[in-house]
Amino acid sequence: MTVALVGAGPGDPGLITVRGLALLRACDAVVYDRLVAPELVDETPADALRIPRDGLLQKQIDDLLVALGRQGLEVVRLKGGDPYVFGRGGEEALALAQAGIPFEVVPGISSIAAVPAAAGIPVTHRGVSDRVTIATAHAADGSAPDYASLVAAGGTLVLFMGLGRLRALADGLIRAGMAAATPAAVVSRGTLPDQEAITATLDEIADVAGDLPGPALVVIGDVVALSGRLGLQSRRARLEDAPDAAHGLADPMLVLDEREADEALASRAEARSR
Ligand code: SAH
Repeated sequence: MTVALVGAGPGDPGLITVRGLALLRACDAVVYDRLVAPELVDETPADALRIPRDGLLQKQIDDLLVALGRQGLEVVRLKGGDPYVFGRGGEEALALAQAGIPFEVVPGISSIAAVPAAAGIPVTHRGVSDRVTIATAHAADGSAPDYASLVAAGGTLVLFMGLGRLRALADGLIRAGMAAATPAAVVSRGTLPDQEAITATLDEIADVAGDLPGPALVVIGDVVALSGRLGLQSRRARLEDAPDAAHGLADPMLVLDEREADEALASRAEARSR
């Protein structure tokens, strides 16, 4: 008996690991998040128990995993992205460890890796950004992020769970000293056929991207300017894959065009060298 906390990847069902898929295909029960691809849940054996976690509190999920594990079942806990990146996988693992249930963690492709890339944004880029800060906009105690430290970190800033408070985030960062003209992007439903990405300057991003559907990742920093050139190609690739989704993908409101992006990068590089 084992409970495996398996990362399902960010949305596209092709982005699960080989090991994660093998465990799914052999399991007795799967407990799955709302955000995971339904195609992956369908990979479980026809007689497997399929339990959506919707409506369960975290404590109830922890207890359910322990109870299933105690019955000697092979259990997969299928979670969006990577189980340990803002996924509360640590809490589930602690509950299993405490109950003496053997468990393993199968990493997944987190949206931190997949979602900016799907929109043509490399989170690091030589000469543009040498670090990435990953933060949640949604602290457990409801408090606002520590804007001063996020700004002081420099480099690329990636915010999870930030769509609903985009205006407050942008205002907070600008008040803490981040330039209003910093390129920013919201990537909605990344890697899925209806992915949409919108880029703008930090002071305008909430106006143009606030009503995108979730889940969405907020990416802030000079690397976003590269999406003008790198995003086009990946959108084309996706259009071929998913002609039905042509509308959402063919018409992203790319506020920074290629020339503006080059100018933005050049002027910021110059400012830095001064
Ligand atoms: N464990 C997950 C993150 C869970 S927190 C991972 O590693 O990716 C949920 C947040 O992740 C969402 O609010 C959103 O900010 C981000 N997210 C997850 N899937 C996404 C997707 N397909 N596109 C954009 N953002 C996504």
